[in-house]
Amino acid sequence: MRAKQRNLTLFDSLSREQKEVCLQPGAEKFSFYCCGPTVYGPAHIGNFRTFVAQDIFRRVVELSGVPTFHVRNITDVDDKTIRDSQKQGASLVDFTTHWNSIFQADSEALSCLTPHSQPSAIEHIPQQIELIETLISKGFAYPSEDGSVYFKVEAFEDYGALSRLKDRELEVGKTANARSNADEYEKEGATDFVLWKARKPEDGENFWTSPWGEGRPGWHLECSAMIREVIGETVDLHGGGVDLMFPHHENEMAQSECACGQPLARHWFHVTHLLVDGGKMSKSLGNFYTLSDLEKLGHEAKEVRYVLASGHYRKPLNFLLSSLGDAKIALEKLRVFGEELAEKANAPLLSYEECLAQTEADLGLFQPAWNSLLNDLNVPEALGKVFTGIKEFRSTECDPEAAKMALIGFSYVAQALGLDLTPVKVEVPKEVEDLAAQRWEAKMNKDWAACDAFRDQIQALGFTVKDEKGAYTLIKN
Ligand SMILES: [Zn+2]
Repeated sequence: MRAKQRNLTLFDSLSREQKEVCLQPGAEKFSFYCCGPTVYGPAHIGNFRTFVAQDIFRRVVELSGVPTFHVRNITDVDDKTIRDSQKQGASLVDFTTHWNSIFQADSEALSCLTPHSQPSAIEHIPQQIELIETLISKGFAYPSEDGSVYFKVEAFEDYGALSRLKDRELEVGKTANARSNADEYEKEGATDFVLWKARKPEDGENFWTSPWGEGRPGWHLECSAMIREVIGETVDLHGGGVDLMFPHHENEMAQSECACGQPLARHWFHVTHLLVDGGKMSKSLGNFYTLSDLEKLGHEAKEVRYVLASGHYRKPLNFLLSSLGDAKIALEKLRVFGEELAEKANAPLLSYEECLAQTEADLGLFQPAWNSLLNDLNVPEALGKVFTGIKEFRSTECDPEAAKMALIGFSYVAQALGLDLTPVKVEVPKEVEDLAAQRWEAKMNKDWAACDAFRDQIQALGFTVKDEKGAYTLIKN
């Protein structure tokens, strides 16, 4: 089986079917758009579950031979960014730039590939105004008496198709004349939603001029305008957390499809939410975690990445602090195997770029794990098969050629999951270094009693000495 001769198949939330992810005829890249963070505070691990799943999606698509164009926006204009920047007395740009830089650093620490484009709402105000003008001219939107503009939900027949509003016995138009001026609303009724919000005193200096007066765009509109600007009328795949399906994605679809007359996305990819300790993550329960909170508790970003990656994206993932300990053990097993494999194959593990450059990779013992990823990104199954592959490798005599094939296969799967298998750099105190040097000297002099005594002292300081091939290494206990 050639790894690159099969495409990923992925569940599509709109058609409710598994569909192949492939390039459109004549297209050079597979375009995908992900709703990005609202930069008004640190992103929590629930947000990152979605971004990690999207990162694995991108890696699997690229490793299967399809180049991507990955766009993830920055939401810098909405009710929350304006409210909190005002509270701090900071300008909206300074406030959101600060939180965006923290988001980018967390994202990188979690081994997420940087999107090819990260447009922001503030940079696309004229495009948003233009989109509203188109919607008004086509009869899908109307200005209200206060200078706001609303989308007329009744005018879009397909409204609710993605989140199955009708199946939930909530009819479009049932809440006729109801309007929502908030960026986020919980109500499951199809209300007319805001495209342009007339300026209010609490907005401070955050307003722009428009044909309808001073104001600012609504949150849903920004994604539609940026997709159109950065990608075009139809994107190959649109992704986001499942909580965005309604109303955000329904509203995006309504705006884009009514303005352009084309489907907004060929494929919808929704990632199910994260639970913490079996329930909803909440600040009041003390289980609301950001990456920095977990690092303060002594955990590493790569362990957080492993836990967030390890569930199936269509099933809720229950996060426990103890899962991070399990992740540490699993990563260490994989790292040790990677070293063993590199030694047998006499070559290092492949980097992401080297995996991309492999044209006809036979993944040998790790082909089953790769196949699980190609089947709706089944990460838990793939991880199980990686460990089975490791067992098989160790139970058979392996010539360098077979070891090389296993090395390529193992690298492929590790890179697809974005696992960091580099050894942890441990600071060894000088005292321990000195004792280890004295122990080595004693060993060279065959003074076994002294050698054991030094070993015990080193152990008492939290390190273990491991001798191999005329040298020693120090491992932190
Ligand atoms: Zn969006």
